[in-house]
Amino acid sequence: MYKISLITGDGIGPEISESAISVLNTIHDKLDLKFDITKLSAGDNALEQTGKALPDETINAIKQSDACLKAPVGESAVDVIVVLRRMLDLYANIRPAKSYPHMPALRDDIDMVIVRENTEDLYTGKEFRVGDSAVALRIISVSASKRIAKYAFETAKQRNLKKKVTCVHKSNVMRITDGLFAKACTDVSKDYPEIVFEEMYVDACAMNLIRQPQEFDVVVTTNLYGDILSDESSQVVGGLGMAPAANIGDNFALFEPVHGAAFDIAGQNIANPSSFLLSIKMMCDWLGVKNNDSKCIEVGEKLESTIFDLVKTGIKTKDIGGDMSTSEFTKQITDNL
Ligand code: ATP
Repeated sequence: MYKISLITGDGIGPEISESAISVLNTIHDKLDLKFDITKLSAGDNALEQTGKALPDETINAIKQSDACLKAPVGESAVDVIVVLRRMLDLYANIRPAKSYPHMPALRDDIDMVIVRENTEDLYTGKEFRVGDSAVALRIISVSASKRIAKYAFETAKQRNLKKKVTCVHKSNVMRITDGLFAKACTDVSKDYPEIVFEEMYVDACAMNLIRQPQEFDVVVTTNLYGDILSDESSQVVGGLGMAPAANIGDNFALFEPVHGAAFDIAGQNIANPSSFLLSIKMMCDWLGVKNNDSKCIEVGEKLESTIFDLVKTGIKTKDIGGDMSTSEFTKQITDNL
């Protein structure tokens, strides 16, 4: 049995959390893999009710769980996810983008993953005012850059597809910070002669994600660029509704959709729960590998194929061209699992 902490979040968070709970319970009933789920509060609602966006009870419950699922939170995201990533040293943010049949993707042969450094860059929140100006400190260290580069090369090795790592930066302008990141990746690349290594400026990468997305395999980049490029890569394969993410450290991991709280569609039962459900698939992979539990990996694969088999037959939510509500689409998944 795996103990799962579940932050239900804001906006569409509670709706897609209900979908996740329903799927996890079905996995227990039908596939005999038990998840003990603890619902937790964090984000705008928690801030309003308790005065803290990330209450202590939530932190303690997360630390006692085997893995955390996090639905999106609203305006207070920086006080929740950015804090959790740093507190739990979840240094690798993994954001896959793959084209599946019958998805509104740019092409049908895209299979890439963004490996985003998750603890540094402009996300450390070190901002201040000096007279007329506002200043932000951008911190990029050799140790964190080498650590994420190693993760990217190991990912390329395991994927065994194009065996390519693209290091994305802007060292022609930010010579010291991005220069350090590029050099750290280049240094690590020497330990992986079997993997093709290339560098690309972030603006060129943004263009190439539209022009020739099929050429990418593993993209390794700094925190802010990774955030922006992964919204783009999600759209390239069909939209934020189908984009999962993992935040991985050496001992713990947190799984969440790439998208935000989507307040514009909250409470309407039209959100696509797939990003969050595909995050459960990533969680099953991680738990399975960590615990040498092949059944857990198989369950994740079953969940993924169930979702995409439905999409293939035209059973979809509105954001990707269908007419199913969140709850109807979830029911189709639980029926078919
Ligand atoms: P954040 O800055 O927190 O990432 P954001 O302001 O970029 O959030 P999102 O909440 O990610 O915005 O949503 C962007 C757009 O995508 C919105 O129009 C929203 O309706 C749509 N969207 C996001 N997630 C989903 C989903 N699961 N299902 C359907 N539409 C979605």
